[in-house]
Amino acid sequence: MEQYDLIVSGGGLTGCAAAIAAAREGKKVLLLEQYGFLGGAATTIFVNPFMPYTIQDEEGNQTPINTGIFSEILKQLREMGGFHKNELTFNEEYLKLILDRMMRKYGVTVLFHTFVTGTKVENGKIVSVHVANKTGSYDIGGDYFIDTTGDADLAARSGCPYHLGRENDQMCQPMTLCFRLGNVDTSKLHEIKTHIPSDNPNFKQRETAMLHGNHIDINALYKKFQDEGKIKNPREDVLMFTHMADGVVHFNSTRIIKRCPVDASDVSEAEMDAREQAYELYLFMKEHVEGFENSMLLSSAPQIGARESRMINGHYTIVQQDIIDCTKFEDSIARGAYGVDIHSPDGKGTTIHDIPVGEYYTIPYRALIPQKVSNLIVAGRCISSVHEAQAAYRVMPICCSMGEAAGLAASIALADGAEAKDVDIQKLHKLLDKYDCLY
Ligand SMILES: Cc1cc2nc3c(=O)[nH]c(=O)nc-3n(C[C@H](O)[C@H](O)[C@H](O)COP(=O)(O)OP(=O)(O)OC[C@H]3O[C@@H](n4cnc5c(N)ncnc54)[C@H](O)[C@@H]3O)c2cc1C
Repeated sequence: MEQYDLIVSGGGLTGCAAAIAAAREGKKVLLLEQYGFLGGAATTIFVNPFMPYTIQDEEGNQTPINTGIFSEILKQLREMGGFHKNELTFNEEYLKLILDRMMRKYGVTVLFHTFVTGTKVENGKIVSVHVANKTGSYDIGGDYFIDTTGDADLAARSGCPYHLGRENDQMCQPMTLCFRLGNVDTSKLHEIKTHIPSDNPNFKQRETAMLHGNHIDINALYKKFQDEGKIKNPREDVLMFTHMADGVVHFNSTRIIKRCPVDASDVSEAEMDAREQAYELYLFMKEHVEGFENSMLLSSAPQIGARESRMINGHYTIVQQDIIDCTKFEDSIARGAYGVDIHSPDGKGTTIHDIPVGEYYTIPYRALIPQKVSNLIVAGRCISSVHEAQAAYRVMPICCSMGEAAGLAASIALADGAEAKDVDIQKLHKLLDKYDCLY
C-alpha cells in the first residue's frame, strides 16, 4: 500500500491550500480530487466572484485579511490577466492552471478522477482511505488526513459525529446550478457594484458586480411571471453577473429547496430540476428582456452547488453570535469579513446580518477538529458550526485561509507526534506568521 505523511481529500481551494501548506513544510502529501481539475466550487460549480476578503481601515482603504496562499493565487491571477476590469470576476480556466502549477512547484502528488469512498479506522486513528478510480478500487495509507470535501465525507465515513442544516428541521440552504447565456448584447445591461446596499453606514456593503437591465426592471417582470405561475423557480429575483467574455452573462439564480446535498437520490433530482429552472429562466430572458433576443444557453456548471451540507460536531461549535460579535478566539487560525447570508431553505428570501465596517471575526482551531478520530482535521464549509454561522464563513477566501492553517497544523502534529486536538497553538501561530497568514 502506498503511504503518505498526509492525505488531503478534496481539491477545492481549501484542499489545495492545505496540501501546499504541508508540502512546503517538507511533508509527503497526496491530494485526491473527484474531478480532473482543482479549484472546487470556483471551477466545479462556476462560483464567481470571491466574496469580500478585505476590511476597511479608518481612511477608507481596503486591507486584505485572507492572505497567505489566497493572496498568492490572486497575484498569479492578476499577472495572467485573469481578472475582469471590474476586478471581481475571474477566469476559472486560469485558476485551474495556477493550481496545477502550484501543486507541481511544491511537490504535491495529485490524483484526479479519484473518489474517496471510505476510510479504515484502527484504535481511533485513520490508517487509510479507500478510493475508486480508473486504476481500480484500493486503499492508500497515511499518517494524517485532512477532509476538505466540503461535505465532511471523510469524517462521516470515519464515524465522526456530524449534523446537517438548521437545528429545528435539518434543512440546508438551497442548492444552485449556475449557468451561462451567450450571444447577449450586454450594452443593454449595466453593472452595479453593490449587491445588498446597507442603509447603515457602519455596516459594510457587499461588493459584487450584479447586472441589471438598462431600460427594464427585470425583477419586477420576473415577479409578475412568478405570481402568474409562469415561473416555477422559488427564488425571489434574477441574480446575474458579468462574465470574463464579452456577450456572456453568468446566472446564479436557480434555487432547489428541501433536497439533501448528501443524499444521492436527492442530488440527482436536484440536478434535473435545476436544469429545468435554467431553461425556464433562459426562455424568460430571451423572450422578454432587452439584450437577450439572440441569446443561447451556453453551459451549466459540471455540478449543482451545495452551500451547506454536513458539518462536523467538533471541539467547538461556532454560533451566529460569534460572527456578529466578531469574536477573537485565542486559538484563532483564520479571519473572516463576510456576514451571515442565508438563502432561505424554504424558498423565498435571503437573510443578511452584516458585520461592522473595519471588523472581522475569527475561526477557532477547535472547530476544525472532529470527535472520535485523533489524526483528522476538517477544513472548509463543513467545520463545526450552526447553520447561521456557516452562512458567513462558507465563502472561498475564508475557506482557503482555513485550509492553509489546517495544512500547517497537520505538519506540526506530524513533527510532534501529536493528536489533532493537541496541536500547539503557539507553534501554529508562529507558522501562520511565517507564511503571512492573518488569524
Ligand atoms: C451557488 C453557490 C454560490 C456561491 N457564491 C459564492 C460567491 O459568490 N463567492 C464566494 O466566495 N463563495 C461563494 N459560495 C461558497 C463557496 O463557493 C463554497 O462554500 C466554498 O468554495 C467551499 O469550499 P470547500 O473547499 O469547503 O468546498 P469545495 O469548493 O466544494 O471543494 C470540495 C472539493 O472536494 C471534492 N470532493 C468532494 N467529495 C469528494 C470525494 N468524496 N472524493 C474526492 N473528491 C471530493 C470536490 O470535487 C471539490 O473539488 C457559493 C456557493 C454556492 C454553492
